[in-house]
Amino acid sequence: MTKTWNKRTTAVHGGTRRSQYGEVSEAIFLTQGFVYGSAEAAEARFIEAGEDEFIYARYGNPTVRMFEERIAALEGAEDAFAAASGMAAVSGALTAMLKAGDHVVSARALFGSCLYVLEDVLSRFGVEVTFVDGTDLEQWKAAIRPDTRAVFFESVSNPTLEVIDISAVSALAHAVGATVLVDNVFATPVFSRAIEQGADVVVYSATKHIDGQGRALGGIILGTRSFIRKTVEPYMKHTGGAMSPFSAWIMLKGLETMSLRVNAQAASALAIADALQGHNGLARVLYPGHPSHAQHDLCRSQMGKGGTVVSLDLKGGQAAAFRFLNALSIPKISNNLGDAKSIVTHPATTTHQRLSEDQRAELGITPGLIRFSVGIEDTDDLIADLRQALTAAG
Ligand SMILES: *Cc1c(COP(=O)(O)O)cnc(C)c1O
Repeated sequence: MTKTWNKRTTAVHGGTRRSQYGEVSEAIFLTQGFVYGSAEAAEARFIEAGEDEFIYARYGNPTVRMFEERIAALEGAEDAFAAASGMAAVSGALTAMLKAGDHVVSARALFGSCLYVLEDVLSRFGVEVTFVDGTDLEQWKAAIRPDTRAVFFESVSNPTLEVIDISAVSALAHAVGATVLVDNVFATPVFSRAIEQGADVVVYSATKHIDGQGRALGGIILGTRSFIRKTVEPYMKHTGGAMSPFSAWIMLKGLETMSLRVNAQAASALAIADALQGHNGLARVLYPGHPSHAQHDLCRSQMGKGGTVVSLDLKGGQAAAFRFLNALSIPKISNNLGDAKSIVTHPATTTHQRLSEDQRAELGITPGLIRFSVGIEDTDDLIADLRQALTAAG
């Protein structure tokens, strides 16, 4: 039934399960366990649980299941498993499928915690990881080997907003039978068509645009039914990264308004990138949805729109960046993104502080770089605030 709906309808109604009371808003089943009618029923459920039969909230829960089914329908994935955070989803998806001796190729420009999992954790368990510049197909071609098990990348990188060609990288990976895992946070489920473009597994931090109002942590792993139920579920249910039913309810409500929020944020982001282009206090204005971006065409064909984040590189380095941040009145200095509230981050001293200066330079994370997650405030108010802060910084 849900297959014929477009995304906006799916985001409101997909996966809904009503109790005997017929509630309009999804129920929160805040329960760890479930009562069995008889000893035989308990035994039968442990042998094989049916569609609407649950055992323990670490394995699954009706509210969590609604969220999984809604986002799977939205993404065009066969199934999904919800996790406690975006990182529980990223590390769960990778560790569920990998074993010692496996080879992984990953883009180098990653969210800090993703880099930690790929670089530090997997190698401790005997997984070999080769890092490449994700925008350079020649590097992917050279790094992917006949024994490569998986490739991993963020389709739009954080915080320098490089776009990675999902179709092209997937074709290279599939030629050797490798699984393609895409962390698609910056594309958001609104603009993502990652599965039809070749991704096997898509992961989101639901903390970002899915909640969209800065309340709860969450993550989701999307893929084929067999990958989710045979590879991911056994690993996640026994290692404990489950999403709480309360968080699942927040995420369900977040999905209902996500398309309206994200489209408004993307329109504002484009207007801001356009207004600030060529400003004499800025060395670079990075926004994949703006024609000035090096991969604008790829962004257009892959995502349609440019997403909700604009990165600004101030000419005066860290001192100017700090003056700019401190002079802003609407955007808040924080490190989340995808929120209804505009949020500004100085990656070099916060999210990417752990990296060496050389690593930051390699990734284009300069001392003047600011990541601006555009909220749903009035666009003209935001532009006026950014302009006065740039004057104060300069
Ligand atoms: C935030 C983020 C994560 C981690 O998500 P959490 O919910 O904070 O654990 C992973 N990948 C990307 C690209 C992110 O932006």
